[in-house]
Amino acid sequence: MIINKEKCIGCGDCVPYCVMGAISLSGEFATIDLHECVECGVCIRADVCPVDAIEQQPLEWPRSLRSFFSDPTAKHPDTGLAGRGTAEMKTNDVTGRFKSGEVGVGIELGRPGLGTWFTDVEKVAMAIAPLGLQWEPENPTTPLIVDKSTGKLQDDVLNEKALSAILEFIMPSEKLEELLKALDKVAKEIDTVFSLEIITKVEPDGSMPNIEKAMELGYEPMPNPKVNVGLGRPKFNG
Ligand code: SF4
Ligand code: SF4
Repeated sequence: MIINKEKCIGCGDCVPYCVMGAISLSGEFATIDLHECVECGVCIRADVCPVDAIEQQPLEWPRSLRSFFSDPTAKHPDTGLAGRGTAEMKTNDVTGRFKSGEVGVGIELGRPGLGTWFTDVEKVAMAIAPLGLQWEPENPTTPLIVDKSTGKLQDDVLNEKALSAILEFIMPSEKLEELLKALDKVAKEIDTVFSLEIITKVEPDGSMPNIEKAMELGYEPMPNPKVNVGLGRPKFNG
């Protein structure tokens, strides 16, 4: 995003709307720090500039990646979908992606005000890839992983930043402890925050072995699940 200095009157109205704190007033104009700007479009959609001085510059690859991962109205070229993760996380009762004996995992890096560099996304991917993961093919981060066995990302995206990016995969439940240990270690080596989502099938007796295992290991799940309300018809048996 850029500010047209021919139009800007330096009122400062746009400054508090930037989710990354990338807009500042210098002299008589506002300026955007393009290093920190994640091209989320919030400032322009807020429609607060009295003189329409906030403008979207043409975005070439790889900078366009910032927009795909940060602007909920931008479509990912790889998935054709707007948004950052996939629907699979929230619709497992319908799609049956994660079976008994498996655990679905989402690792969501970055938050407003902080964001995430793709170097940190790569560090986390490389820390966990040796566990033998089945990367979610429809997640927009997955195509950026050029070596699925090591978690290496393509080089041209590493200097890009996004509001957040989600690593999403399935793994055998018995690897959960190793995953949590690997994440504990890599969390100290990155310059952002992440949340861990454990997607688990509820067994016929009502138990959730993956959650119980995580609790045994000292992790307390946050009570904020997303629950389906029967709007879909299961596409699988069992
Ligand atoms: S596009 Fe987003 S990050 Fe960039 S200046 Fe606007 S609000 Fe800030
Ligand atoms: S709201 Fe518009 S005129 Fe005011 S500082 Fe921002 S860009 Fe400049």
